[in-house]
Amino acid sequence: MKTTVYVGLGSNLANPIYQVKKALRALEALPVTDLRAHSGLYRSKPLGPQNQPDYINAVAALRSELAPLILLDKLQAIENQQDRVRNAERWGPRTLDLDMLLYGNRQSQDARLILPHPGLFERAFVLYPLAECAPDLVLPDGQSVYDLMLRCPAQGLCRVD
Ligand code: ADP
Ligand code: MG
Repeated sequence: MKTTVYVGLGSNLANPIYQVKKALRALEALPVTDLRAHSGLYRSKPLGPQNQPDYINAVAALRSELAPLILLDKLQAIENQQDRVRNAERWGPRTLDLDMLLYGNRQSQDARLILPHPGLFERAFVLYPLAECAPDLVLPDGQSVYDLMLRCPAQGLCRVD
């Protein structure tokens, strides 16, 4: 049985546009998983420390048979393949960040995998590309992604071509 999963992609190091496009190809190559759709690319201002480059963000829609924690392992393996260095600084610069935004209607408070991803509700760089991928999407708590997007200031987000 396949479940629809939304993944948020972000990069602000080592040619972020290249990193995000490469990660989309890696998602496409995951076992028992189809890449159904992805948003365009967006440029956003960093969260937290401002002394780092702007981010490139996108959202991908997958259909996957992988269990949530197995898929999380695979997402982290893709981050590692793209030279993600894990350091202590929260919201510090990174070559690639893959966040599992939604796994079907699953809700989880497990520290390793919080679902829906807690940043989803207020981050323009998640909501705008997510609404582009899936304008009719309704979250497990009944909120419409499109309505959340309309209520979310763009926070300097812009499309890149
Ligand atoms: P952040 O994305 O917050 O900048 P990281 O990418 O380094 O930070 O992730 C930190 C931890 O967040 C990971 O070890 C992972 O287990 C955990 N995590 C919890 N929920 C999720 C989720 N929905 N998607 C991705 N990682 C998650
Ligand atoms: Mg992350």
